[in-house]
Amino acid sequence: MKKAKPITAAERNYIIEKEKFVPVSEYYGEDTFNNKVMKEKLPKDTYKKLMEAINEDKTLDIATADLVAHAMKEWALEKGATHFAHWFQPMTGITAEKHDAFVDPVGIGEVMEKFSGKQLVQGEPDASSFPSGGIRATFEARGYTAWDMSSPAFIRRNGISTTLCIPTAFISFTGEALDKKTPLLRSNKAVNKSALNILKILGNKNVKKVYANLGPEQEYFLIDMDYFFKRQDLVLGGRAIVGAPPAKGQELEDQYFGSIKERISSYMHDVEEELFKLGVPAKTRHNEVAPSQFEIAPVYEEANLAVDHNQIVMDTLKSVAKKHNLACLLHEKPFAKINGSGKHVNWSLADNNGNNLLNPGKTPHDNIQFLVFLIATVRAVYKNADILRASVATYANDHRLGANEAPPAIISVFLGDQLSGILANIEKGIVTKATNAEIIDLGISSLPIVSKDNSDRNRTSPFAFTGNKFEFRAVGSSQSISFPATVLNTIVAESLDYLAEKIKSKTGNINQSVFEVLKKEITEIKPILFNGDNYTKEWENEAEKRGLPNDKTTPVALKAFVTDKALNLFEKYSVLSKVELKSRYLIYLEKYIKDLEIEVKCLNNICMNQVIPAAVAYQKLLAKTINETKNALGSSAVLSSELEILKKMVDLINKIYSTNKDILTKVDAANGVHDEQRKAEMLCSKVKTSMNELRDCVDELEGLVDEDMWPMPKFWEMLFIS
Ligand code: ADP
Ligand code: MG
Repeated sequence: MKKAKPITAAERNYIIEKEKFVPVSEYYGEDTFNNKVMKEKLPKDTYKKLMEAINEDKTLDIATADLVAHAMKEWALEKGATHFAHWFQPMTGITAEKHDAFVDPVGIGEVMEKFSGKQLVQGEPDASSFPSGGIRATFEARGYTAWDMSSPAFIRRNGISTTLCIPTAFISFTGEALDKKTPLLRSNKAVNKSALNILKILGNKNVKKVYANLGPEQEYFLIDMDYFFKRQDLVLGGRAIVGAPPAKGQELEDQYFGSIKERISSYMHDVEEELFKLGVPAKTRHNEVAPSQFEIAPVYEEANLAVDHNQIVMDTLKSVAKKHNLACLLHEKPFAKINGSGKHVNWSLADNNGNNLLNPGKTPHDNIQFLVFLIATVRAVYKNADILRASVATYANDHRLGANEAPPAIISVFLGDQLSGILANIEKGIVTKATNAEIIDLGISSLPIVSKDNSDRNRTSPFAFTGNKFEFRAVGSSQSISFPATVLNTIVAESLDYLAEKIKSKTGNINQSVFEVLKKEITEIKPILFNGDNYTKEWENEAEKRGLPNDKTTPVALKAFVTDKALNLFEKYSVLSKVELKSRYLIYLEKYIKDLEIEVKCLNNICMNQVIPAAVAYQKLLAKTINETKNALGSSAVLSSELEILKKMVDLINKIYSTNKDILTKVDAANGVHDEQRKAEMLCSKVKTSMNELRDCVDELEGLVDEDMWPMPKFWEMLFIS
């Protein structure tokens, strides 16, 4: 009998790998207490009541909550969880959680795993250490977390610890929103109500619910962890505050969509595996424009879920990076003169029948509805460009917006040629039909017919219509997308109501009425429409002529939150009371001040403890060499180049020292000002410019000092070695 040939090591490995391979569809969402699990684990009646509570906004009785909690606990224990946590989104912009063990003493020396409906529904984290903008006096430090039934509970594994996380809203004792979720949920309600109202007027009676969908494209950088830990600016603030650009940047355009390196590919695979288990529909991954920059985009989801999932994506990107000895930088501008990172937030409205209300549709009636929603959105942006701008205003994003790679601080809307043409015709009184897609005839019969997006993908626009959704591109990469979405929902709700009123006031044929209203509106909102290149100086001038706001810095932009217009609008739609919105404005201002001050301290440390000592050491070496040469061969032998370098170094060290001192003095002066707005403006106008001057000196010095003596990793190392 012939003996079987033994398999080779390579073949064996292949088989082992193959055995390990499980199709994603088999484990997708396995770490979430999702609909499928609920259906399976909950008594029929309980499941029905819970679904009613979720879908029809009904309150859940405590007996039902007890049953849900029990099932959730059993499920979590099977997954290895020892603790549960109310997971919430305080105003820090990141998520927070307080863990409680399931075990509870029963008698002496014995415990039992317990989890009640009350524990599921409500939590009481000490709220005094979260930013509240003065809403919650310290003597009343209680805050409440309330279960958000519309976002599934999930399992979070961290090292060997496993926790059941319950998405919650975070509110004060008196019911004020202390988080980013509560206003979003309220804005969902507002836009639903206004959209249903106008749909009814348009004769569309089959719709029960309208909701916003969000698809955030997340950009990020990856660098080797060893470099990361050698830079306190990256560790503490997420951005390299000094450092000269590398000899090679992105000019060869070889990074964008380039083939992904093995190490990065493995990392992305691990990230996606984690996300799939948590039911996050990660879909697209690719290299971005800058070296070591990447993007991940999920399939869009209902706004609340998309926001939670984006927080999970950001957490996962960071935690998985550590396992690969990489550091994930979510900062908007980690490396000066290299493209920064943003988050393109794709936004649309859909109805409960799955129809996208921003889809041009096939019938003339669909078209009218589409035009109403389109123009309502454009009007909303036109009327509230300042608020929208403020919703993306952060210290970090200021480094990016308007830096010739990201949209400028001027908000405008891109509609593309086809739609612009249609609107122009309406204005002239001519009806033309908007179609979903134009066909591009490639003239080559072996290639399939390609349908053309009716947007030509103007990448420079901050707010672009891309076929059946708007893409808000000014959002920062590290920021929560919750508030930008909240603002969008709210301002669109207001515009829908405005159009509804106008249409209602007309008599006669509804189509004719709509047409007349839109015609007038188009003339009014035209200044916000811009299809050209947003990066140019000409546009800035033109925008000024059109009266569009151009708030370049955060302190100025944030003022938009406390105008009468904004305060009244958010209150009218019950999204944020005046007190709540004012407190948010203060929180954002304070955050700006703190972020800037952290960088100032960091810059001081880097200059005093690293840069100057390194430069002085090199200066000493040079001076010694010059002296020794002089002693041996006479002064004529000393190279003028050496003298020149030495002189330059001494000058730069002096300049660094004095500019740094000057910065600290200016910060001190700003700290003497008690009005937060003025303080932020002072820091922004006086300190930021000096920080840039200081940086230029440090970067020039970097080019003079011996490579081996430079005290921190350089850009070329961080961006090209991985
Ligand atoms: P690109 O980089 O070409 O703009 P991506 O595929 O990276 O496109 O991202 C597009 C994002 O928009 C995805 O998250 C996608 O799911 C989302 N999206 C698509 N349609 C809609 C829609 N109707 N509403 C909201 N988001 C959408
Ligand atoms: Mg993309």
